[in-house]
Amino acid sequence: MSNNILFILCPPVWSMLPHLGLSLIIQYLKQKNINSYFFDLNLLFYKNLPKSYRKDWTINKNYINLEFFDYITKNYFYLIEEVIEKIKKNNISLVGFSVYKTNRIFCENLSIILKNKFENLKIIYGGPEVFSFFIENKLENWNFVDKFVVGEGEIPIVNIITNTNDKNLYLFDELNDINFYPDYKWLDLSNYYKKNSIPIIFSRGCYNKCGFCSEKFLFKKFRVRDPYNVIEEINYQFKYNNINQFIFYDSNLNLDLKKLNLLLDLIIKNNLKITWEAQISIKKDIDFEILTKMKKSGCVNLFIGFESGSDRILKLMNKNFNTNDAIVFFENLKKVGLNFEISIIVNYPNENEEDFLETLKFLSENKNLIPKVAQISRFRLYPGTNIKLPENYEENIAS
Ligand code: SF4
Repeated sequence: MSNNILFILCPPVWSMLPHLGLSLIIQYLKQKNINSYFFDLNLLFYKNLPKSYRKDWTINKNYINLEFFDYITKNYFYLIEEVIEKIKKNNISLVGFSVYKTNRIFCENLSIILKNKFENLKIIYGGPEVFSFFIENKLENWNFVDKFVVGEGEIPIVNIITNTNDKNLYLFDELNDINFYPDYKWLDLSNYYKKNSIPIIFSRGCYNKCGFCSEKFLFKKFRVRDPYNVIEEINYQFKYNNINQFIFYDSNLNLDLKKLNLLLDLIIKNNLKITWEAQISIKKDIDFEILTKMKKSGCVNLFIGFESGSDRILKLMNKNFNTNDAIVFFENLKKVGLNFEISIIVNYPNENEEDFLETLKFLSENKNLIPKVAQISRFRLYPGTNIKLPENYEENIAS
């Protein structure tokens, strides 16, 4: 039997850019001389469904249920048939899904359809939702899945394809060397909606300990790419894929300031005509010079997890800054002309009305300093975060 693998990205997930995690796995396999296939079913559905679905593609709860799956498979089964054809044509024996909260129902039901159709097909699940199911001891709910990958996919997928062992569960088998990048030779980038633009990664993992965050658990080790390798990628993507806009997918771009400083120096020195955006955290030790270099190297937007205008809540969240530090940080960003936006979390456990009013006061007093509040989310208890909810905690208070 062949060991040909097909990766399927099911809807609905964000569809503006190619999927970085799967692209890195495909590239890693390529380096090991293992051919693989990719099917962006998410993009296909996004393009084929009526445009009215697009507005809230990943946030409308009505698209994350069985009725929606039934509706689209009934009306658009010809799109599923394209997947079936691809499996037949390429003699696929392994199918890997990247499972998110939003596309879980789709992944589950498509897996069952494929299992019924192809008797010997093996199904592999990876992605953030597999981590959640693992933490909640729910993996056995997926009894139609043959292999689970919790954490990074590169090493486990190679092991599965080469039959290195017969484990069912791969837990945090992480790379030491992350100095590689997708060449996208297998993908038509022009199909994606954000043009001349791709995701890029500088570091994997985060060593901060924000109480509400489950993202930090997705990686065990914190690793940073060699800045020279990132420059090589930027040059490659510019030359061969016509890319000049880079979206850093790091949890936090400014964790290793020494390497970041070198990366910025190299972008400036090589006169690379790019723009970039990233998520960063408020840090007391980030100096004015680095911020100036960020601007000079093409940064057009920064997303900052500020979360609360109450020092008491920032402390409860384990944030490494207080509101005064935040103001100094924002002022410095403004001085160098860096655009940024912030996020807020409300209804954090033990947050009271006074804390909430402090946040409102902070935002109002600093409205000329903060260009945009991009996201206000109600606190959600994510698996693995170990936060104890107070007895009288009302989850819906802020919804
Ligand atoms: S800085 Fe971001 S990724 Fe890191 S722990 Fe905090 S919220 Fe999570």
